[in-house]
Amino acid sequence: MDQDQWWARSQSAMPGGVSSPVRSFRGVGGTPFMAAKGLGPRLFDDEGRAYLDYVMSYGPLILGHAHPAVVSAIQTQAVHGTSFGAPTRLEVEMAECLIAAYPGLQMVRLVNSGTEATMSALRVARAATGRSLVLKFSGCYHGHHDSLLVRAGSGAATLGVPDSAGVPGQMTGLTLTMDFNDRQAVAETFQRQGGEIAAVIVEPVAGNMGTVGPEPGFLESLRELTTKWGSLLIFDEVMSGFRVGWQGAAGRFGVEPDLVTLAKVIGAGMPVGAYGGSKALMNWVAPLGSVYQAGTLSGNPLAMAAGLAQLRTISALGDGFYRDLEQRVQMLAQGLRERARRRGIAVSTSTVGGMMSLFFRDRPPKNFAEVQSGNDKRYRTYFHGMLRRGIFMPPSMYETMFVSEAHTVQNIEETLNAADEVFSEL
Ligand SMILES: *Cc1c(COP(=O)(O)O)cnc(C)c1O
Repeated sequence: MDQDQWWARSQSAMPGGVSSPVRSFRGVGGTPFMAAKGLGPRLFDDEGRAYLDYVMSYGPLILGHAHPAVVSAIQTQAVHGTSFGAPTRLEVEMAECLIAAYPGLQMVRLVNSGTEATMSALRVARAATGRSLVLKFSGCYHGHHDSLLVRAGSGAATLGVPDSAGVPGQMTGLTLTMDFNDRQAVAETFQRQGGEIAAVIVEPVAGNMGTVGPEPGFLESLRELTTKWGSLLIFDEVMSGFRVGWQGAAGRFGVEPDLVTLAKVIGAGMPVGAYGGSKALMNWVAPLGSVYQAGTLSGNPLAMAAGLAQLRTISALGDGFYRDLEQRVQMLAQGLRERARRRGIAVSTSTVGGMMSLFFRDRPPKNFAEVQSGNDKRYRTYFHGMLRRGIFMPPSMYETMFVSEAHTVQNIEETLNAADEVFSEL
């Protein structure tokens, strides 16, 4: 059976042929390839075609595909069983590892996805403050649960459905939405309704409208306002955690949230998530407290083993790990800008640590509206031009690009050569 037949079967059996919308290529058109295996920086489709991968499972694979330490940890654990329904030492080690790394973190609860983590963190915030409203930012994605599926970026932006059908207005009526980096609007909202706001939730480095970093003072102002008004600050570091640095964006920018959500890198490609904060806040979580939250597979031993193997590998490589990653990201960003400029194509890049995006507009965007003003027709042509040359860029201008430890300087040069050809055709 050939690729087309498999894709037809896929579309007949699953909505859009996928388990998560962005994989369908709706943002760029065309038919997605089916992945068969990954190795280091490369992904291979079911007919053996190789792609240099800058999607990297949308963030988790910071060591590359099938890193030996991760593979071996999963193999070792699988022999002993895949799930127990009882506490394990692996969970303790994972929780302690996160607590040791993340500024101010004292206690965590392990879950199965980033969506679960943010949903649960909000529940804790509402319980602890006795308030209902949450404030989020346009273009920030916090998973697909009802109350945060408002101007959510990522797949929702790609599909042009900022709000989802099936989410009653009453659910999102408790969510206030501001522009990312707009300190003034947040300050005014607190002035008006500060006493009703349970939490501000933010991607401290936005990665679901492409990469958009915080302007100087933005995160600090969120910290000041939430403290002043007795609201909680939630950093959704599902993408940025262990990606922009070992201490996440909190460490990088020196701003500590009250609650943090993590996933992606901490699971090395296995389904995992975590949320946590001070002991006082986490005391609200069942069975200690009255905030109910549970999971049959939470803290899954395979996921814990894989994630721990990845985190320990990073930790063993020391500070140099993130420095090297950032250097390669910078090399890629600078190379893309130079080649585009030579061909007379207006582009800008936005980078924070191991996160980066290429935008077809002349200045890097500072919020969702500016991202949306980029040239998405050009992005589509660029995406397919790169794909034809064996380079897999994010299939939407609203997704971040990921470089892994496995991406070499030669890989980056290969990418820049391909980009040069593609830019010349634009
Ligand atoms: C990916 C992502 C999520 C959702 O995580 P899932 O594991 O896909 O549910 C939430 N927040 C941010 C910032 C993300 O990047």
